[in-house]
Amino acid sequence: MTGGAGFLGSHLCDRLLAEGNDVLCVDNFYSGAKDNVAHLMGNPHFELMRHDVTFPLYVEVDEIYNLACPASPVHYQWDPVQTTKTSVHGAINMLGLAKRTKARIFQASTSEVYGDPEIHPQQENYWGRVNPIGIRSCYDEGKRCAETLFFDYHRQHQVDIKVARIFNTYGPRMHPNDGRVVSNFIVQALRGEDITIYGDGSQTRSFCYVDDLIEGFTRLMASGAGVTGPINMGNPHEFTIRELAEAVLKKVGGSSRLVFKPLPQDDPRQRQPDIGLARATLGWEPQVQLDAGLDKTIHYFRRRLAE
Ligand code: NAD
Ligand code: UDP
Ligand code: UDP
Repeated sequence: MTGGAGFLGSHLCDRLLAEGNDVLCVDNFYSGAKDNVAHLMGNPHFELMRHDVTFPLYVEVDEIYNLACPASPVHYQWDPVQTTKTSVHGAINMLGLAKRTKARIFQASTSEVYGDPEIHPQQENYWGRVNPIGIRSCYDEGKRCAETLFFDYHRQHQVDIKVARIFNTYGPRMHPNDGRVVSNFIVQALRGEDITIYGDGSQTRSFCYVDDLIEGFTRLMASGAGVTGPINMGNPHEFTIRELAEAVLKKVGGSSRLVFKPLPQDDPRQRQPDIGLARATLGWEPQVQLDAGLDKTIHYFRRRLAE
């Protein structure tokens, strides 16, 4: 697995080990952390390797989960050239590895391939509306190009591919400073700081709890060879950012105020997955709703901030 020391990757490591697999976790710790997998270090079925996926990797594997890529705007815009390289060169190297070892390969793609969409909710056959030269493009276009590579390796070299388009996901082990909205709001509320709403807070997102997403990953990986995706994965319940801020504040309590900051460039107005394909193909849909998921995430950050 690449990106295995990140937020999603570390949960996937837990899950794959629990199912009895041997896991090689490859990560350069750009936005992930050893802490996320520290609890696995004594496990003889787990191996952690510091490696940058923009360089070739020669190992023997029978399944590859390609998650390496900074995912939050703060991280991916910090070194945008490296972000595109990670998505594109990383995909080439991992597809080359899959081709040589005949391993099945999963790609963590993103709802950002739809850009700032003009249709709602987004289905997989929508081609998207992405600015190719904006500040989010390193991420969006990098992930779009990675999808292109996946489908070309599939058509040209018969590589067995599984492409998931992931929508906003949250949960324990999110990076407290990565600027994503759920972690920001919870950390701000726990510290009694102002809760920063960008724009007027009327933009929407749909938030999926991490355990639900990981269940979707393993179902997609286990699906028949005819299923390549791309397949949307996310929670279709849509909330405005203001509603999220109010929900977090209500749960945490405290003295934080809601404050309004400028909306970042190219910030999508609305985002909601259509998960009809995942339901029909994988029998998958999220089980954990925002209320319960926020409780678990707040619990994690409360402990972490107390350390
Ligand atoms: P994350 O930043 O916590 O994890 C990404 C991991 O990749 C980190 O551990 C990082 O150190 C590693 N990495 C980055 N560049 C690398 C490189 N060149 N070589 C090796 N490792 C590298 O983010 P996450 O939320 O866990 O996201 C995991 C994947 O899922 C990403 O590909 C992301 O684009 C995708 N995704 C996540 C979300 C979400 O809401 N969390 C939504 C859509 C897509
Ligand atoms: N690659 C890798 N590990 C492997 C096989 C290939 O990292 O086990 C890399 C290799 O560096 C190559 C890339 O994957 O640049 C693409 O591989 P492919 O076989 O498609 O390309 P080629 O070797 O023909 O350039
Ligand atoms: N956002 C916000 N306050 C914050 C962080 C983010 O209002 O402190 C907004 C952001 O402008 C966007 C939404 O929340 O409209 C989701 O942002 P995030 O970075 O989590 O994800 P993405 O934009 O990639 O969906």
